[in-house]
Amino acid sequence: MKFIKTLAATACATIILAGMALAAEQKQTCCEKAAAEGKTCTMKCCVAAHHEGKSCEKCNPNKEDLKLIKKGNQAGQKKED
Ligand SMILES: [Zn+2]
Ligand SMILES: [Zn+2]
Repeated sequence: MKFIKTLAATACATIILAGMALAAEQKQTCCEKAAAEGKTCTMKCCVAAHHEGKSCEKCNPNKEDLKLIKKGNQAGQKKED
């Protein structure tokens, strides 16, 4: 009986590990996906947030899009006080 238990535990661990790997790979946000294709995210909530130079935290809980905005917005951003 011990063998079956071990087998089941191993199978369980494998499934969990596989699931974790999959989840990690799919963690790209809509903005990251768009940036990967050389585009900007077209989601309404993201466009509005990015327009204000903010992160759309709804889609990017870790503010992933903020890095992408800075990258794409380098031109013509001079400070005028
Ligand atoms: Zn987005
Ligand atoms: Zn959004």
